[in-house]
Amino acid sequence: MQRSHIIFWRIFMKIIFKTLITAVSLSFLSSVLYANDTKNIEIMEIGDNKIHTFYGISNSHIIETPSKLILIDMQFNFKLATKLNEYIKTLKKPLSKIILSHSHPDHWFGYPIFKDVPIITTSGIVADLNHKGAFYIKRLQKKMAAIIPKKPVEPLTTLKLGKQNWGGLDVIVEEYTEQEAHHSILIKIPQHKVMIGQDLFYNNMHLVASQRSRNNNWIKILQSFQKNEAKLYDKILTGHGKNTDTSVFADNITYLQKLEQILASGANKEETKEQLIKAFPDRGGKGFINITVGNLFVDKNKK
Ligand SMILES: [Zn+2]
Repeated sequence: MQRSHIIFWRIFMKIIFKTLITAVSLSFLSSVLYANDTKNIEIMEIGDNKIHTFYGISNSHIIETPSKLILIDMQFNFKLATKLNEYIKTLKKPLSKIILSHSHPDHWFGYPIFKDVPIITTSGIVADLNHKGAFYIKRLQKKMAAIIPKKPVEPLTTLKLGKQNWGGLDVIVEEYTEQEAHHSILIKIPQHKVMIGQDLFYNNMHLVASQRSRNNNWIKILQSFQKNEAKLYDKILTGHGKNTDTSVFADNITYLQKLEQILASGANKEETKEQLIKAFPDRGGKGFINITVGNLFVDKNKK
């Protein structure tokens, strides 16, 4: 074959290959979006109320009482938050407030979509946002500029802890420190045996550890749930993975203990990743392992 022919075929094959890759990634993307349209809502009936779970990159839960809606967490980007908001509109009840469970960005980057709805949380979570909120935006700006906010969410600190009544529904709001995040809230609905714990619980996923010093305390909190709450509750609503039951307490303890054991053995970043995948091969959220090791093995050369 002549040289010019070979060059032509090379360029031709390159174009074909690129087109194929684009087509495959586009069809993957549309299948993800399509899945979001059809399979991403789960509805739980509890007495006169319902809890709608929207499965996005994180989970948002909508508590529907006879007269109003309360949303817990706002998704990771404008696209998902828009889908969530469209679903909320189909319920035809006023969205009275939004509760932010903790300061991690996959739970609040969608906030600009929910204009005019008060966002409330605790002063501890606001302090966490003041500390890291702008950093999360800066870190993800390059990849996600068009679909994330330019400045951090500024919730009111009016979320009360303890027993309260939301539109006829008795709830208990608790705050936990030093676990998956620095501060996180947990909502209990004792009459219906429901706990909405967000990222205190991951169901069948790799857990994200944000600081080495928090792992043991997170294990202690889960052990306490195993000992006490497991007798009183049976529906556990998570921040990642499908809603589940109290078996998630033991499962998450096992994961964190394994992670601690790997770290204690002196494993480096790559070895930690490999060993976590080997120990938990069937879990979703493999990308979370990168976040965990990124958090736990801070590059000393980076300021
Ligand atoms: Zn999360």
